[in-house]
Amino acid sequence: DEMDVDTIWMDGEFVDWDDAQIHVLTHGMHYGTGVFEGARCYDTENGPAIFRWEEHVDRLFDSCLPYEMEIDHSREELTEATKELITRQELPSCYIRPLVYYGYNSLGVSPSDCPTRTMIAVWPWGAYLGEDALENGIDVMVSSWRKHASSQIPTNVKTTGLYVNSLLAGEEARRNGCAEAIVLNKEGNVAEGPGENIFLVRDGEIFTPGLSESILDGITRNSVIRIARDLGYTVNDTVSISRGELYTADELFFTGSAAEVTPIKQVDNVAIGNGSRGPITEEIQQKFFDVVERRTDEYEEWFEYV
Ligand code: PMP
Repeated sequence: DEMDVDTIWMDGEFVDWDDAQIHVLTHGMHYGTGVFEGARCYDTENGPAIFRWEEHVDRLFDSCLPYEMEIDHSREELTEATKELITRQELPSCYIRPLVYYGYNSLGVSPSDCPTRTMIAVWPWGAYLGEDALENGIDVMVSSWRKHASSQIPTNVKTTGLYVNSLLAGEEARRNGCAEAIVLNKEGNVAEGPGENIFLVRDGEIFTPGLSESILDGITRNSVIRIARDLGYTVNDTVSISRGELYTADELFFTGSAAEVTPIKQVDNVAIGNGSRGPITEEIQQKFFDVVERRTDEYEEWFEYV
């Protein structure tokens, strides 16, 4: 298979790819009632190292709270299962996808009698938007779709159903020749990408929409804020950013566990800055990869070695 996965962890057991199946009457499939994570494990001198695993596990448990979903497994069990998957499949680096969802019992919208099910899969995954994207940047468009407002559905946690909106925005962008979308919130301010947070550079300062802008509390966002501040930059992370400010930015970039640090070179066919990866983006990106691939011993507390 193209994902190159032999073993998947399901509800406490390691099962073969072929056996990792669920029933069509699964609640989560009908109503999008699942929560998930996406993390990366990097190839380092000291073996595979999971970047900010603890924060990902915390967010997975937090994502359950609005739905009163209870994971039948401890944090330690999920951690051991993940490490075992990576070890068994001898992966030097990989993407990690834990998913918790309401399983089958009945199909009322109320999941009260549905079991909570949990799975974890890991697989090799290169640059999310392509190697070329990391170096040269991507073209994006402002989507005609708006993000869910956080008054309509919790946007700060990672619910499967939310990604229907991400698909609409992303596919609209790709139909229009762009690699990805920028999605505005209900107020019309810049929120984030379909699966990325966004950063803007202007006059040497860094800006990113605040957590009250209906965005996911991105773990890469949090890491990049810390890295940029440690590099001496001022990072304004509680601001609203208007659509117009995108076009006049000196630099723009996306962050995400999958997208890592991806420069944006054009928005709606308008070149951003000099129309290629900007110098501050490059500096932060370089530092990010030095950190995650452990070419520095800084931020050691961010890593869980397999
Ligand atoms: N926003 C959305 C909507 C996302 O799906 C993601 C990817 N998880 C992000 C932002 C980036 O978050 P993180 O850095 O934690 O992966």
